Amino acid sequence: MESILIVDDDVNLCTVLTDELTEVGYEAAFVNNGDAVFDFLKNKLPDLILLDLKMPGKDGFQVLNEFQEKRIKIKVIVLTAYADVKSAINSAKMGASDFISKPYDFDELLITIRKVLQRDS
Ligand SMILES: [Mg+2]
Repeated sequence: MESILIVDDDVNLCTVLTDELTEVGYEAAFVNNGDAVFDFLKNKLPDLILLDLKMPGKDGFQVLNEFQEKRIKIKVIVLTAYADVKSAINSAKMGASDFISKPYDFDELLITIRKVLQRDS
């Protein structure tokens, strides 16, 4: 079973999205801030991370930056309400595989998740 970690400070979104992903056959978990990601990764490396950009404390860009610094190889889709061209470009430069704007359409998100998981890297 492929595993997905949701990283978002919106607890309601995390709960709903975890249920949606579980229903379609993924092993889903969530954390609510950027620092908690690294604690989570000590125990398990998920196949994919859905990453919010705006979070209190360590934001999404800082998380991506730290992945690069620590050479943590993990697929990331950025999921954010602040979808704009600049954020998309910056996320891609920092290693994100794709970019989805909130509020997300689950079917669209699912297509993107499957596409990213099928890629070799
Ligand atoms: Mg947020």
